[in-house]
Amino acid sequence: MTDKNIRICPECGKATVDYTIFGGTASCRGCGWRGKETDLLLVPMNPNGTDPEQLMVRFTLELRTLLAKVLGTPLVRFLADWGFLTDRTNDALVKKEAAMYLTNVARAVAVSIIKTREEIATNGRNPDAS
Ligand SMILES: [Zn+2]
Repeated sequence: MTDKNIRICPECGKATVDYTIFGGTASCRGCGWRGKETDLLLVPMNPNGTDPEQLMVRFTLELRTLLAKVLGTPLVRFLADWGFLTDRTNDALVKKEAAMYLTNVARAVAVSIIKTREEIATNGRNPDAS
């Protein structure tokens, strides 16, 4: 592998993407997204030729663990207060639904982090800073 960038889906953050270079088309096997190759997000890291899919899974999983640790309890309270939990008195159901929210939140945050990194690389610096 000569290209050390990993391409990931702009929709779900998975590396399960198929694409053709030079303005070609791209699609995601993970969520069914379709678009242009240039829409894919670039992750400039591939230590020791790690399998891209494994790397993004690990990145998202580690982020999920971090979010669960610092955000778990307050997030459940927040979701309950805003009526996002089916039944806040059912502990097993609360745990199950909270886990689903955390997984999807982590995935969205992972995509956002990669997008932000691209913005930083493109703009050079924060446009708000003078
Ligand atoms: Zn996808």
